[in-house]
Amino acid sequence: MRLLVVGSVALDSVETPFGAVTDALGGSATYFSVAASLLTGVRVVGVIGDDFPKGDLEKLAPRGIDWSGVVQAKGESFRWKGKYSFDLASRDTLETRLGVFADFKPQIPRAFADTPYVFLGNIHPALQLAVLDQVKDPQLVACDTMNYWISSEKETLLKVLKRVDLLIVNDEEIRQLSGDWNIHRAARWVLSQGPRRVVIKRGEHGAFLAETGKSFYCPAFPMEEVFDPTGAGDSFAGGFLGYVARTGDLSSAGFRRAMVYGSAMGSFAVSSFSVGGFEGVDPAALQTRVRSFKDLTHFDVAEAIG
Ligand code: AMP
Repeated sequence: MRLLVVGSVALDSVETPFGAVTDALGGSATYFSVAASLLTGVRVVGVIGDDFPKGDLEKLAPRGIDWSGVVQAKGESFRWKGKYSFDLASRDTLETRLGVFADFKPQIPRAFADTPYVFLGNIHPALQLAVLDQVKDPQLVACDTMNYWISSEKETLLKVLKRVDLLIVNDEEIRQLSGDWNIHRAARWVLSQGPRRVVIKRGEHGAFLAETGKSFYCPAFPMEEVFDPTGAGDSFAGGFLGYVARTGDLSSAGFRRAMVYGSAMGSFAVSSFSVGGFEGVDPAALQTRVRSFKDLTHFDVAEAIG
């Protein structure tokens, strides 16, 4: 298996204008691995409580997800509760109950240490550093973070940035991190802090990839039915890194393709609650979605204007 993810495995309660779910399978590592497993085998490191319906994880194992690094600890599982606005453009976090996640100290199993591609989900930056100390010469390390860590642990987060190849965040996070409202300048600032590439996720407005002297934009797939945006960003990251891990292609052209695989996964994630949007999605359906991005964005430049 070529990809390792460390992050939350959660029970989510979500309300959207189209319905609600309680204690549904969620968490950043879960969405990430369900998406990535369409492209490559994934090893997950995380923690769940003794109340977690483990069968829900086991059902997903045949996709190529190794959950053996997910420890079951005594206590309550991590629970997150969110509610979306009528246009799904914004959400309020109603409750975050850390439970066993509060004492999470990621232990990378020995058999996972040489995984070539690594994704550090939005855990405490000190824990992200601890993971980096436990892996052996990965080909590529990517990391995520969130507003909470940017405001409370910025110094430690900057140490993480010095040691990763790629940062994947949303526009709000990169603005807060850089202190610059302009996302393109903010991306340049991130590139000066260590990572060679940065991906900025912008929800229904697509995603940007920036590297020194170059940038690439991929739109979001035009979806007429969006049920639940939860996990779209993590699924994007899973598709992006799943593609990179599968191909081993670290060229600019490869990363551009990875952006499209990420966007395709985001579109599957939002089509249903929890990880239901991936049900029935096979590699052929994924390729069809990826091809439709080409149709969506391709145009020929006229020789002259009129
Ligand atoms: P996204 O919609 O891509 O931002 O991801 C939402 C997922 O992140 C949900 O499944 C939550 O369980 C998880 N999540 C929410 N808050 C946190 C947190 N503080 N730490 C880790 N994971 C979280």
